[in-house]
Amino acid sequence: MSTKAEEQTSEHHEEVPAHVDAEGDMGAPPPPTNDAAAQETDGKETEEEVIPTEFPTFPPDTKESDLNLPKDCFLLSKQNDGFQIPYYLTSEEEVSKVRPPAVVKTWEQRIGECDEKQQATFHEFVEEVKKQPWYEEKFDDWYCLRYLIARSFDIKKALKMLEKTAQWIKDFGYDEKTQCSICQKDPNQHMGQFIGWDKEHRPVMFMSMRWGPERKNPLEHMVCCFKHLISQMPQGVEKWVCVTDFESYSHFKDGKPSMGLGVINTIQDHFPERLGKMICVNPPTLFWVLWKAFYNFIDPVTRTKVEFVYTEDKPCIYESFPKLFPYHIRGFMYDTYNRSKHKLPAEPLVWVPDPDGYPTTHDERKEQLKANKAREKDDKKAVKEAEKEKKDAAKEASDHHKKKESKGKSSKGKDKEKKDGEEAASAPEEAASAHTQTASNKESQKE
Ligand SMILES: [Zn+2]
Repeated sequence: MSTKAEEQTSEHHEEVPAHVDAEGDMGAPPPPTNDAAAQETDGKETEEEVIPTEFPTFPPDTKESDLNLPKDCFLLSKQNDGFQIPYYLTSEEEVSKVRPPAVVKTWEQRIGECDEKQQATFHEFVEEVKKQPWYEEKFDDWYCLRYLIARSFDIKKALKMLEKTAQWIKDFGYDEKTQCSICQKDPNQHMGQFIGWDKEHRPVMFMSMRWGPERKNPLEHMVCCFKHLISQMPQGVEKWVCVTDFESYSHFKDGKPSMGLGVINTIQDHFPERLGKMICVNPPTLFWVLWKAFYNFIDPVTRTKVEFVYTEDKPCIYESFPKLFPYHIRGFMYDTYNRSKHKLPAEPLVWVPDPDGYPTTHDERKEQLKANKAREKDDKKAVKEAEKEKKDAAKEASDHHKKKESKGKSSKGKDKEKKDGEEAASAPEEAASAHTQTASNKESQKE
């Protein structure tokens, strides 16, 4: 029996992971841990990564209509305004450089990961499925194995689960549905889309709270997205990775458990063994209230797939993302999070990596933030100086005007006397203004 098969049998949904056992009950969520999630990719990072240095260039005013986007990579025909199109998805030629191989694992390899007993159960299950009145061809070997794993190789339970999905497929209209009807009318209602493949060739879905304000009906969009992700899986890859940006999460608006539960239940009931990882970036403190409400509804295996990471704190995306994502896709996410944090628009339309590269450790990130802060401070100072200068100049002009006016009122005889005095008085003012200017010049030189 292979170790992989052991891993899979322990991945079924009835079995409870160690952290829940130790707690004795499932009522109180443990502090978020990334251990389980980290284990999955640890040990696979022996290959030295080659970081590309040359990227295509795009004119800054590039429009979506100027690009020949590979249709299969985009769910919608028009993109959300908050979405920068990653350069590697701008054309068939670019995407071919990052596409995974067509076959990552053959069926023989997949079933070979199960032990003899599991294989026998599997064959029995497939025969049962084929006898059912709801049976359809799409419930193939791969499909059946996922349901069987999700129900710990219990044929009865797996059959019941698959039957429910067969019904759901009809009720939901899953086969016919290709696009979210809300986003078809306005692509700025939801932000959830495919952005490439991770290091294990799993399709990655990016979601953002800020760029998707619609909250009442996220299920249709999510299901269409899942369908799209599945279409982007090479043979032998069965899971997807979902990354959510919590920037702009509002507990008042987003903290309703009922909203997310529909999506969670749909994944658990109808997409078993599909969620590879759910990465939550920058969840705010109040999110834990929602997480607590969700906790008991999320099965223990799904829970271990959820990971919490931060852009400016530990666990830090600059340390965890390199384990999971190739350079191009993690760079896209780093820049997207920073843009979202500063509420910046998706400009220019096409994203290319920062030529200066990205931090690789939390400490490097701290240094970068420090440098950014110092630069911001300098910028603010320069703006203040410029404002002061402008004010001084305005004051000077107004003083001058007032003096001119009073000059007009006074007698001709007094005129000359006064003028001499004025000139003498304005001299120190001019000197002060000149001084300010030098200081401001120095400030901008420092930049
Ligand atoms: Zn939508």
